[in-house]
Amino acid sequence: PVLRVAIMGLGSYGTRVAEAMQNCKRAKLVGVISGTPAKVKDWQAKYGIPKKNCYNYENYDSVKDNPDIDAIYVITPNALHHPAVLRIAAAGKHAICEKPMALNAQQGQEMVDACNKANVKLLVGYRMHFEPNTLEIIRMRNEGEFGKILFFEGLSGFKIGDPNQWRLNKELAGGGSLMDIGVYSINGARYMVGEDPIWVTAQETKTDPIKFKEGVDETILFQLGFPTGAVASCLSTYSMNHLDRFFLNGDKGFAELQPSTGYGPIKGRTHKGELTKPHVTHQTLQVDKMAGVILAGEQAVVPVDGVEAVKDLKIIDAIYEVCKTGAKKTLEL
Ligand code: NAD
Repeated sequence: PVLRVAIMGLGSYGTRVAEAMQNCKRAKLVGVISGTPAKVKDWQAKYGIPKKNCYNYENYDSVKDNPDIDAIYVITPNALHHPAVLRIAAAGKHAICEKPMALNAQQGQEMVDACNKANVKLLVGYRMHFEPNTLEIIRMRNEGEFGKILFFEGLSGFKIGDPNQWRLNKELAGGGSLMDIGVYSINGARYMVGEDPIWVTAQETKTDPIKFKEGVDETILFQLGFPTGAVASCLSTYSMNHLDRFFLNGDKGFAELQPSTGYGPIKGRTHKGELTKPHVTHQTLQVDKMAGVILAGEQAVVPVDGVEAVKDLKIIDAIYEVCKTGAKKTLEL
């Protein structure tokens, strides 16, 4: 069987996912949910989408009665993820939701609960969890090749343009760089170290309070501590380019990735040499593997379910709480 997917939100990333899905073997784009009729027409023509699988934001609850759509992939601005996933669950469809899954852990938990109650799956667009060089590092770590893991460094940032975009609007984005790009270092720290952190501390700095308004973070540094004693140091920013780097250090070796989370190719090396796994379009791999998780109950090497995303949201909540004062907070994930 093939997972029949409708995409909600036909913006820049939705477009990228749709292109990539053309090469999926276990999933197919069969529907759209959009507020823009002209885009729907274009997508219908390009992907052969039948009219009966096209919805807008007012009427998509009726997807409940459409047996030809299995899952809806939510690719809208962050604030719209939570209400959308609740409606998708109520319609009895599986949800794939972009990162960050929600604006805070409470919303995230409500999404997990709603999908559990409706007996549908909730997966999150953590595409790096399927990237071959990333998985090679995880394999090496699991086999002890780095020894005891001691340190992770994550640098996630880019210089953001247009000051009027939704990413700089607190209501739609839920914050600033941390919600959008810093989440890669948060999630990356967990899958690179292979543990969930037990404490966090953070510091915020802002050079442009006009562009980055109250509640929209420009730059945040944060540190995490892990149960076995490893520590992580991370930077999230909207005001520096060329920041896409992961470094993992253990007492027997190291791994580094740069770029570490961009669209690829992902490049890097370990103490044993260059990482050489060939590049595959991340979104093609991700949606294919997610089809296996949804249709066949397969497990991802690094889980991509809503429960995992709630952990990241708890870390985000804690960072926003402590970054004003630099206090250290215990985490219970
Ligand atoms: P975008 O602005 O390009 O697209 C957003 C789409 O949502 C647009 O088509 C817009 O019309 C639609 N939309 C629906 N309701 C809206 C509303 N009330 N206000 C504004 N737009 C509305 O954004 P994007 O870059 O495609 O990001 C969408 C989501 O995907 C975000 O959550 C983002 O974090 C995520 N994303 C993930 C990755 C990744 O690599 N996993 C990459 C980029 C974006």
